[in-house]
Amino acid sequence: MPLYYQPVRFTPGVNWLCLREISGFEEQEIEGTSASAAMRLVERVLVDAPPVAPLTAELPRQLSLPDRDRLLAGIYSQVFGNKIESALECANCHSPYDMDFALDAFLQHLDSNEAMQQVEWQEDGSFLLNQDVKLRVPTGEDELAIWGLDNEAARKELIKRCVVEGEWAEDESAIEQAIQTAAPMLATEMKAQCPECGHEMGVQFDMQSYLLNALKIEKRRLWVEIHLLASTYKWSHDKILQLPRSERQRYAKIIESTI
Ligand SMILES: [Zn+2]
Repeated sequence: MPLYYQPVRFTPGVNWLCLREISGFEEQEIEGTSASAAMRLVERVLVDAPPVAPLTAELPRQLSLPDRDRLLAGIYSQVFGNKIESALECANCHSPYDMDFALDAFLQHLDSNEAMQQVEWQEDGSFLLNQDVKLRVPTGEDELAIWGLDNEAARKELIKRCVVEGEWAEDESAIEQAIQTAAPMLATEMKAQCPECGHEMGVQFDMQSYLLNALKIEKRRLWVEIHLLASTYKWSHDKILQLPRSERQRYAKIIESTI
């Protein structure tokens, strides 16, 4: 089973994590793009492997959201490669066109902003917004705590949870911006320009929805591969689902080339 290691930057006490390649068990489970689906996927592919510190049951919840986003980016590049592609339709002339970018360059761009280098991190993983206010980066636990609240209430509650010390006078977006600067999530609005009429429009990208959607679309292919392997080798459903994705795909290709 191929393993790969990823650095963890914004979760106190964790420096590296080890992940395995996804298998059909994870792929078949993906229905939506929710936070709980992302948490579950990460939880399933994390493995205990030296020299990384042993995993605890709480880790998937304690993982900061920007770190989880980076693990999702790692899963994406392991499964699909480095290229992110979107099929768009121009809002002005309705011509279809594609937009793509390299995931590693995007990450590098996010992590090289100057303001980020000046953040004063504390030992407990929090950081100073100013002399009076100390903030921390939201985690999966915070996400679970605000689950079910309406958007505005969820936003307020999340900020309240992330202010570790001090009273803040600034508006909420200043706090959100400070957290996004210190520990950026892989979410942004990109500019796309229509090659036909030149019209520019904003396109939302976030790693979690993009990865989970991409895996959901591929589920159709998963059923074909299960069918091919089961009917050729007479392997059980569970045995096929256990295979690392790349291995299952290799078998399916061999079978298809001999039909
Ligand atoms: Zn256009």
